[in-house]
Amino acid sequence: MYLHFEEASVYMNGKFERKNDFLFYIGEGVSCASSGLYGGIRALDLKNGNYAVIPGFADVHVHLREPGFSYKETIASGTKAAARGGYTTVCPMPNLNPAPHCPERLQEQLSLIERDAVISVVPYATITKEQKGEELSEMAALAAMEKNNKKAKIAGFSDDGHGVQSGSLMKQAMVEAKKHGKMIVAHCEDNTFPSEDSASEWRQIERDLALVRETGCAYHICHVSAKESVALIRQAKQEGLDVSCETAPHYLVLDSSMTEDDGCFKMNPPIREKADREALLAAVKDGTIDMIATDHAPHSVQEKEKGFADSLMGIVGLETAFPVLYTELVLTGMLSLEQLIRLLSENPRRRFGLEHSGYSIWELDEEYEIDPAAFLSMGKSTPFSGRRVQGRCIATVFDGRTVWADEKFMESHRGSNTGINEADAKRMQKQAEMMLRTRPGGMGGPYSR
Ligand SMILES: [Zn+2]
Repeated sequence: MYLHFEEASVYMNGKFERKNDFLFYIGEGVSCASSGLYGGIRALDLKNGNYAVIPGFADVHVHLREPGFSYKETIASGTKAAARGGYTTVCPMPNLNPAPHCPERLQEQLSLIERDAVISVVPYATITKEQKGEELSEMAALAAMEKNNKKAKIAGFSDDGHGVQSGSLMKQAMVEAKKHGKMIVAHCEDNTFPSEDSASEWRQIERDLALVRETGCAYHICHVSAKESVALIRQAKQEGLDVSCETAPHYLVLDSSMTEDDGCFKMNPPIREKADREALLAAVKDGTIDMIATDHAPHSVQEKEKGFADSLMGIVGLETAFPVLYTELVLTGMLSLEQLIRLLSENPRRRFGLEHSGYSIWELDEEYEIDPAAFLSMGKSTPFSGRRVQGRCIATVFDGRTVWADEKFMESHRGSNTGINEADAKRMQKQAEMMLRTRPGGMGGPYSR
């Protein structure tokens, strides 16, 4: 089906360009009973909206829960949720059963991905066996897998969920990872402090930065939540260390004065003080924080309904990240939309070597309330439930296929016939394809492979 935009903004080469009379094809699988018919062209006329075509986001920190915990989420449900959020690439963490610490186990996960994923999925392998922090995983063999199979590429090594407590083991891991051209992606948590104490985070970051200085390993820090961490990372970058980091939407939008006795506020690291949130926002603005990842961590309803103290740690985020950040950071004037796109797409892709592919189409003025019941993710626990946001993803295209289309939106925007004939439609579609294929900074066209 064709979507015909009277006007749309298309993100290209780092900025938005206004395009008039923009025609967009979304996959044949998508039906829309009310679409106009003219000269054999089924097209939906979209007028008077604030439409934006944005390169597919890349989330370097998600939990897809398979293999091992498919009652929480599956690769199918998790990647569909991601597509609905405008993501075309996700990197799932290895806290799975079995945990991918050797090629055989990673292969098991890769087979599920190959079978069920609707977007690109580039998994992590573990740093240590069973993520126990005692013995290194089979790093050389894991890193070598992609030599024989391009699809066996790993995003890096991570023991996410746990900090590696032994400094000497972490040093060995960095030496090995560097040897094989892979990044260490660290959940920093020093267990000698309670996780509510931000020292649990920044003390381990401090330790690891000293090890990076020694080993020269490429190092990425997960879910930065504390102001002291920000200061350490800023200093390390000034020093020229090969360091990057992420934070998550909830740390930028919430502080401890806003949390309630509810499992939907329970995650690790926890939501900290106002001063931490302010430091994170400043760090996002000045580039100390390179990217925003969701730490999408679905659990069952039962696991999240036990109040703050007893619920499991983790909230979902793939379907709310862009609307929440757009509403809270862009519409308030803190960041430009272009900056937000760099944080969600360009920066993670560059740092992790993730191929650009696909794009999503948004109606940026569409306002609505976040409703977890409507999530495609099996996880429903989010601190943003009921929040009013702007920005609705109406379609996501990956590798030439429409992997998400908001049919309800399309139904509610039934327009008159577009008046476009078949020849015009073909010509306009070609133009759109050519435009989206432009590189660098382009989005990787729908038919570019
Ligand atoms: Zn973590």
